[in-house]
Amino acid sequence: MTLFDYHARLGRARSEMEKRNVDALLVSLGSDLPYLTGYRAMPLERLTMAIVRRDAPVVLVVPELEAPRVEPVPDVFEIRPWAEIEDPIGIVAALAGRPRTVMIGDHTWAVFLLALQGSLPTADFISARPLTEALRVIKEPAEIELLRRAGASADTVAAHLADHSFAGKTELQVSREVSGLLEENGTDAAGFAIVASGPNGASPHHEPGHRVIGDGDAVVVDFGGTVGGYGSDTTRMFHVGEPSAKYLEVHGVVAAAQEAGVRAVRPGVSAESVDAAARAVIADAGYGDFFIHRTGHGIGLDGHEDPYIVSGNEQEILPGMAFSIEPGIYLPGEFGVRIEDIVVCTNTGAERMNTSPKQVAIVR
Ligand code: ZN
Ligand code: ZN
Ligand code: ZN
Repeated sequence: MTLFDYHARLGRARSEMEKRNVDALLVSLGSDLPYLTGYRAMPLERLTMAIVRRDAPVVLVVPELEAPRVEPVPDVFEIRPWAEIEDPIGIVAALAGRPRTVMIGDHTWAVFLLALQGSLPTADFISARPLTEALRVIKEPAEIELLRRAGASADTVAAHLADHSFAGKTELQVSREVSGLLEENGTDAAGFAIVASGPNGASPHHEPGHRVIGDGDAVVVDFGGTVGGYGSDTTRMFHVGEPSAKYLEVHGVVAAAQEAGVRAVRPGVSAESVDAAARAVIADAGYGDFFIHRTGHGIGLDGHEDPYIVSGNEQEILPGMAFSIEPGIYLPGEFGVRIEDIVVCTNTGAERMNTSPKQVAIVR
């Protein structure tokens, strides 16, 4: 039993190919391949590639030793395993026919693209991203359900962390504990957990290290894991002991900005207007220079994908789009505050995938 209708997805891909006059769509690593076929290739030096044509069945070219991992989807694709002594580029070039325009997945190793360009010298190679993005950016109900479940798992972990002890542990220890909690609460894999304490919190993608968390530290915890391949991504704030008045002020500004961002979401608005709604709250409070990243990113089979909630992106927000709203204020040498939830655009506004409390949790 498959959860998704790959047949329908390939049908949509082919009609987009027709519209854009594309003869062959070649997808390799990354999430386009599992989106279209249910199979995710390992990032190997051996080539895995699906050949999608408008006028021929889909063929998945895989290394022979990887073929046992492929779950066949009847009527969706055929498998062409290649042996170690064969030339996979030649096989793909032959299966592509005599294409004039080829779309290539943007997670394909450059070495394979260069070889394919050599084997198909009359073909124009263009990025598949506009096509695969157009399909993937609107989530189907079954995908939204997985995002909901991933969000609920993360919320359960957030509730646990509000009672957790932080002081005396290193960031790395807490990060491993959060990963373990995610797994215990329904996510597929260990996921990720950024733990940034004290001044480290001023670095948004801080790598958890050996700093020991102590009394008076603010701690940023940004974490998530996947359910059925679909991710969660949430950030909550913890504080060992009572926070200062300045910390509470900054936290309040970020919480208000996050709420303004969520409330700005509805069909037809631009991605950049959602960014602007959150950013205005922070700028008005005088912290504009300390909000040093975009307001959010799409989420689905990839942890970061379209739509990007950033100034300059006029992309229209539509029902079924899933993305984070995660403003922050980062004060170098002092602390950082970020609050992040995933939302899905509905016909009228935003459905929240995360509902755990946003106030700072005072911990031991
Ligand atoms: Zn605990
Ligand atoms: Zn995050
Ligand atoms: Zn995020």
